[in-house]
Amino acid sequence: MVFIPKVIEIKETQRPCFSKDELVTIREVVMDCSGCPINCCQKFKVPLSPYEMYETPLKHDEKELSHTGLAVIAKGPDGNCAYHTGTGCGIWETRPNSCRQYSCLDDCRVKFN
Ligand code: SF4
Ligand code: SF4
Repeated sequence: MVFIPKVIEIKETQRPCFSKDELVTIREVVMDCSGCPINCCQKFKVPLSPYEMYETPLKHDEKELSHTGLAVIAKGPDGNCAYHTGTGCGIWETRPNSCRQYSCLDDCRVKFN
């Protein structure tokens, strides 16, 4: 049976992007990921905003930064996001904007069959 991802909630959220005082409105998509056969937290690089990179304790991927100049979230030894617990996001309340905005429904790289 083909897995069909579901959206639980879409909302507009004010989030820091460049500094804690400069807020931007993002379209936050909360997905129901239970039973998903794809771990998108492992597959993709997760960009960090300047605020997330320099003013929060979120760890970034040093190799990626030195090789490509991209600020992305750190990976753990298993290749997953360093904040993935094995069963879900360990920093749900403080996860980066890019995680909040991501929906696999908009992403042609994700195929469920
Ligand atoms: S691909 Fe990612 S966002 Fe989509 S349902 Fe699976 S874990 Fe959730
Ligand atoms: S911060 Fe959480 S939602 Fe974002 S990639 Fe890591 S584990 Fe997934």
